Amino acid sequence: MDCLFCKIIAGEIPSSKVYEDDYVYAFKDINPMAPVHVLVVPKKHIACANDITAENSFEVAKIFEAIPKIASVLGLNNGYRIISNCGPDAEQTVLHLHFHILGGEKLPGKLV
Ligand code: AMP
Ligand code: ZN
Repeated sequence: MDCLFCKIIAGEIPSSKVYEDDYVYAFKDINPMAPVHVLVVPKKHIACANDITAENSFEVAKIFEAIPKIASVLGLNNGYRIISNCGPDAEQTVLHLHFHILGGEKLPGKLV
């Protein structure tokens, strides 16, 4: 499958890893939009939130179990924002489910 994040998870494309376990991989975004900008992805390919099902929601739960650990490692003691873009209206550019973790400053551009 020609998926950028699957290749990153497989180590075929380099990344700045910040966390890894059996189900989850997290790495620094190549184009950071905040002092801390990390992408958290399931190791299993899921295209976006639309493709979460009863069969794979376990993988997503593992992401949310990992996020507090990742936030702690990154020193995000004053909070952070989690964003997941799904589909064209959200301008998703990489079709492998990912959660942006943004922090390290008082974040601008609050949408909701
Ligand atoms: P989205 O627009 O929500 O699909 O987010 C995709 C994100 O992947 C963007 O923030 C990009 O900067 C990031 N990105 C693209 N290629 C790479 C890469 N090779 N390593 C790290 N982050 C990447
Ligand atoms: Zn993938």
